[in-house]
Amino acid sequence: MINKKEIDIILKNLPSETKLVAVSKFKPNESILDAYNYGLRDFGESRPQELAKKMEEITNEGINWHFIGHLQTNKIKMIIDKVHLIHSIDSQKLLAAVNKEAANRDIIVNCLLQIYIAKEESKQGFSKGELEQVVLNIGEYSNVRICGLMGMASFTSNKSIVASEFSTLKEIFDTLKNGLFANNSYFKELSMGMSGDYLTAIEYGSTLVRIGSLIFGER
Ligand SMILES: *Cc1c(COP(=O)(O)O)cnc(C)c1O
Repeated sequence: MINKKEIDIILKNLPSETKLVAVSKFKPNESILDAYNYGLRDFGESRPQELAKKMEEITNEGINWHFIGHLQTNKIKMIIDKVHLIHSIDSQKLLAAVNKEAANRDIIVNCLLQIYIAKEESKQGFSKGELEQVVLNIGEYSNVRICGLMGMASFTSNKSIVASEFSTLKEIFDTLKNGLFANNSYFKELSMGMSGDYLTAIEYGSTLVRIGSLIFGER
C-alpha cells in the first residue's frame, strides 16, 4: 500500500533540483513495485541484508537503490556492487573500508559523508572537526566518489532547532563545495529531510529528501 496523494503533494513541494528517495525499509516488495509503477525510481534502505535481498529481487529498469543506515564494515560486501549511493559514511574507518572493497572489485562507489548535526547523542556521523581532517586526505580514497553530505536533524517538533541544524549542514556543504571540492562536479548532493521535516530541509537547499512513512505508512 502506498499513499499516492502524499506522493503527489511531496513531488509538488519539491524544487526541480531536489530528488525524492522513497524510504522503503521494512516494507514488502509489492509496495516498492507500486511506488515504481507510480513513477518513483529512487529507494532507500537502512539494513544491508534487507537491501541486498531487495536489490536481488527487484531489478526494474532505472531503479536506484540508496543505502541510508549505519553500515558495519563486515556488511559492505553485501551491498557494494549494486548500490547507487551510500548516504551514510559516518567514520574514517568505514570510508577506508568501503574504498578498499571497491578497489578490490575495481569499481568506484558513490558516497555521501554523514555529518553529525543533531543535539541527540544517538545520531551518527562526523563532527565538523573530524570532517575537516578526513577531507584533507580525501585523495587517498580513489575508489570512493564523494558526492556530497548527509545529515539528520533532531527528532523534535521545534522547527527552529531543526532549521538551525539544517542551516549548519548547508553552511558546511557550501564551504566544501566552494573550497576543497570547487573543481569537483560530483560534489553536489545534500541529503537532508525526512517525513517530518522535509519542508524545512528544502528551504535550506536539500537536493535529496529521504521520505518513508508519508509514502508507505507507519513502520
Ligand atoms: C527511516 C529513515 C528515513 C525516513 O524516515 P520517515 O520519517 O519515515 O520519513 C530517512 N532517513 C533515514 C536515515 C532513515 O533511517
